[in-house]
Amino acid sequence: MLYISNPEQFKSLSGYEIDGVWYPRVTKIVEIKAKPALYRFYAEMNNFNEGEAIKKQSASEGTMIHEAVEKILVGESPEIEGIIKPAVEAFQKFLINKNIQVDKEFIEKQIVHLDERYAGTLDALALIDGKFGVLDIKTSQSIYRDYNLQTSAYIAALQNDFQNLQTRWILRIDQNQKCLKCGASKRTKGGREKIKANGAKNYKECDHEWSEMRGEIELKEFPYWQEDFHAFLGAKRLWEWENEKWLRMIGYI
Ligand SMILES: [Zn+2]
Repeated sequence: MLYISNPEQFKSLSGYEIDGVWYPRVTKIVEIKAKPALYRFYAEMNNFNEGEAIKKQSASEGTMIHEAVEKILVGESPEIEGIIKPAVEAFQKFLINKNIQVDKEFIEKQIVHLDERYAGTLDALALIDGKFGVLDIKTSQSIYRDYNLQTSAYIAALQNDFQNLQTRWILRIDQNQKCLKCGASKRTKGGREKIKANGAKNYKECDHEWSEMRGEIELKEFPYWQEDFHAFLGAKRLWEWENEKWLRMIGYI
């Protein structure tokens, strides 16, 4: 947790300046929503700092995957670090098999909603199964409903410029090992191991025999975004309430 000490710091941590106008950032706004799973995560740690360290390392692995994937999407062949290789190679295969088309121009594209006053950076606009939409890439262990707030904000901001925008997807890229005996899976992220049963009943008694690390790709479409966008605007209102002091200082309100 970082405590903000001055307006300039608030501006750079919480938003973007576009054509001389400051806008709050989508990912910052959605942080206002409580994440109960995070309490559970911290409760499993020995202390707070251990949780912070794991989160930090896990985020940097996520960033590495993200960066590699973005380079691949714009047609580069980046050097892939060993630790993220299974995930990235699975992604490359998926891209080809699914025939996912992206426009280089719309990778890491900055978006802004002038009326609702927010900005963000979307991962990609893609053509998948004949549909054109917003593609957001995650490196989490599953697809959380919270992501829909973020992507609804992107799709809403693009409505005027792209009338052919039909949908949005979350593409989840991860890697894990599978027990060859019981079918449980083991995910190692941020230096922490987590075993999931995957329906295996006797996984606690099993003397696991782990497979090689293998990539895991999940693509999920969320075509109906309007309700999520209402919720996003609600979150934005709450975020503005919480940050009223700074927002006044910088002249946003
Ligand atoms: Zn096992």
